[in-house]
Amino acid sequence: MNDHTPLGCNAAPVLKERGQHEVFCGLTGIIWLHRKMQDAFFLVVGSRTCAHLLQSAAGVMIFAEPRFGTAILEEGDLAGLKDANDELDREVARLLERRPDIRQLFLVGSCPSEVIKLDLSRAAERLSQAHAPNVRVLNFSGSGIETTFTQGEDACLASMVPELASTDAANLLLVGALPDVVEDQARALLSDLGIDNVQVLPGRRADQDPEVGPNTRYALLQPFLGDTAGALDKRGAQRIAAPFPFGEEGTTLWLKAVADAFGIEADHFDRVTAAPRARARKAVAAAAQTLSGKRIFFMPDSQLELPLARFLTRECGMEAVEVGTPFLHRAIMEPELDLLPGGARLSEGQDVEKQLDRVRADQPDLTVCGLGLANPLESEGLTTKWAIELVFTPVHFYEQAGDLAGLFARPVRRKALLAAQPAEVTP
Ligand code: SF4
Repeated sequence: MNDHTPLGCNAAPVLKERGQHEVFCGLTGIIWLHRKMQDAFFLVVGSRTCAHLLQSAAGVMIFAEPRFGTAILEEGDLAGLKDANDELDREVARLLERRPDIRQLFLVGSCPSEVIKLDLSRAAERLSQAHAPNVRVLNFSGSGIETTFTQGEDACLASMVPELASTDAANLLLVGALPDVVEDQARALLSDLGIDNVQVLPGRRADQDPEVGPNTRYALLQPFLGDTAGALDKRGAQRIAAPFPFGEEGTTLWLKAVADAFGIEADHFDRVTAAPRARARKAVAAAAQTLSGKRIFFMPDSQLELPLARFLTRECGMEAVEVGTPFLHRAIMEPELDLLPGGARLSEGQDVEKQLDRVRADQPDLTVCGLGLANPLESEGLTTKWAIELVFTPVHFYEQAGDLAGLFARPVRRKALLAAQPAEVTP
């Protein structure tokens, strides 16, 4: 049983795992980033494997020209027989000539480009000069060596921070790529609270990118943006510490931390949030009937594990058996650890075989894991939820709280329905 005393999990021991890990690489982030940044192009410098990953993750686009692609390193490049830089320059020139709508070009490193030590930061500098002022060229790594898939977004946003314009104005910066509709809901709530100078990283277009300076307060929208937070700190911006806006409680505490930073009166805060809070509570309660009392195990994957475990234990009545996370960024996670009920096993990093042994021993009602592990676990009779769905589905803020709970309730309900079916009789 989880212990709901106020101490939380900040002082709890953390099992450190270092072994084989089974996760997608940072290239995956391009799928949601290219939808968000409407004049950006992501050019992966990688292998055919990288191209296939992107193609299959994004689906085949027939009508739209995609805003990502792969400059494929051939065997000659890998052996250092050709000058990959000359080829890259030619490819970029061809691309920008054909696509005058592109304003930001990201050169995205991969495992192969890192192995041959292709210096994409110098390439980005050279290409930025060559194509200024129309196009800004930046670079980041999406490689799968020792990383997890949400680090792609972190690396991308961190690469943008040094290029942001400076300001002395007091502004609020929301950090993280949310679907436009969810971002608009957050802006509307902040505006109702009386906070108006709000900007978002990344902007929807290059000319909407935020300004940053010593009077900038920033609030993270995703828990996996540690490098971006570090880059903003270097620019003098101040982070607003808060739990993440998942569920009614997380959203309220996130908004309250922002409201307090901007001196908003408590009465006004309560008036603005009362109706959406009530809606969120009602929506969560519907799914919580299915989830209450069920035991959940998080494999380390999306870096959303801690905030989601907090939401599911505190708002949906679940019991967290193990909460694994690829990396534990204590400074960012402190408000979450404060809230997470005691009793859950915390682990950082992955040693997949050992973790699978613990899943089998614990026999949880629901296991949140990567795609590659879900089918084998289902075949063993365990119920699973794909971690990657949580970043592709709108789950932030009040209006999505019910959908977030529903994502976890669905597989549990399906399992119960299947268990209730009479056994199939074969002739
Ligand atoms: S970056 Fe690495 S892990 Fe990702 S698809 Fe390319 S080769 Fe595979």
